[in-house]
Amino acid sequence: MTDFNATRPLFSLPHGVTYLDGNSLGPLPVAAQDRMAACLRDEWGEMLITGWNKAGWMDQPRALGDRIGRLIGAAPGTTVVGDTLSIKVYQALASALELRPDRRVILSDSGNFPTDLYMAEGLVRSLDQGHRIETPAPEDVAAQIDAIGDDLAVLMLTEVDYRTGRRHDMPALIRAAHEVGALVIWDLAHSAGAFAVDVSDTDADFAVGCTYKYLNGGPGAPAFIYVAPRLADQVQPALSGWLGHDAPFAFDPDYRPGPGIDRMRVGTPPVLQMAALEAALDIWDQVDMDALRTRSVELCERFIEGVEATCPDLTLASPRDAAMRGSQVSFRFDHGYAAMQALIARGVIGDFRAPDIMRFGFTPLYIDEGDVDRAIATLADIMAHRLWDRPEYHARAAVT
Ligand SMILES: *Cc1c(COP(=O)(O)O)cnc(C)c1O
Repeated sequence: MTDFNATRPLFSLPHGVTYLDGNSLGPLPVAAQDRMAACLRDEWGEMLITGWNKAGWMDQPRALGDRIGRLIGAAPGTTVVGDTLSIKVYQALASALELRPDRRVILSDSGNFPTDLYMAEGLVRSLDQGHRIETPAPEDVAAQIDAIGDDLAVLMLTEVDYRTGRRHDMPALIRAAHEVGALVIWDLAHSAGAFAVDVSDTDADFAVGCTYKYLNGGPGAPAFIYVAPRLADQVQPALSGWLGHDAPFAFDPDYRPGPGIDRMRVGTPPVLQMAALEAALDIWDQVDMDALRTRSVELCERFIEGVEATCPDLTLASPRDAAMRGSQVSFRFDHGYAAMQALIARGVIGDFRAPDIMRFGFTPLYIDEGDVDRAIATLADIMAHRLWDRPEYHARAAVT
């Protein structure tokens, strides 16, 4: 069991703020401040270039990958951190397509986060081999797997829809994709740290995710990639950077991929960001993912019930069945952007996704019933008195 009263003080949250946006950017772990300061002062400052060996900087991408591995059911030595999620999607997809040279379809869905689809489009264009990307509605993916059949090269899905929080039945979809001989890339952006995931048990081929959302690694924290051990020595990295080479410091003029997951490394790892991520993972090391999921469902249900009872103008955009949801709840409202700005001005932070989605993330490590009740009461007040209808709440900022 995890004591969620004990995890809350491990985060530095501004006084008076109810933070329901940890699904987009997790808050600062208190210990990250000292850990980063020590990395700057004692490692970079004192060790200079010897830090790569002495402070273990070069091994961090694997070490941190193993700790994320525990949260996603990946065995040690199968996950590595680095780059951004967009890059990791590209790497996984390029490798998967190369493993299925006779097939032409990449199946995703219309709810996928745009960057995953953009990266796929760019890759398809540079490969120029006639691949096509299909994006049916999320509920039609299973039928499409069967319809495409043996032309399906890769099923590339983000498990939880970033707008609605709808969750795919990944074990069933992975089985169906494997039955037609396709490979699966599972994007865990809204899964890792939101609930237990098991990439080994479900036999996923590739998994990718970011560490600045539920995992609280900080803005710009590196992404991660998992490759099933049965494939790890077969994949040919499209981004064949020197740190994925078998012997980077041999400075061999020819590329030769490193063993297993090491070949998914690209270039120099982000040492300062990894120090913050390390502090975040110190917290995750203590968390029981089943207990986390139970809490998350309780908080989400309480929020849905409270908002539906007090805000008749809002419509639930997330599945009502908790089993079909991630750890976020979304409501539709025509003036959702303005209503969210009004909420933020009152210390309740969620976010907005066009065209009309108000999005709220529930993260039991630092959110409790008191936060949920405060968010409901504040939202109810804004709606009842049309407090969102002020010019300053309608002006759009660059990041929503
Ligand atoms: C957040 C998110 C991203 C972000 O990609 P970056 O390269 O880290 O900016 C990508 N894909 C999905 C599904 C996401 O939710």
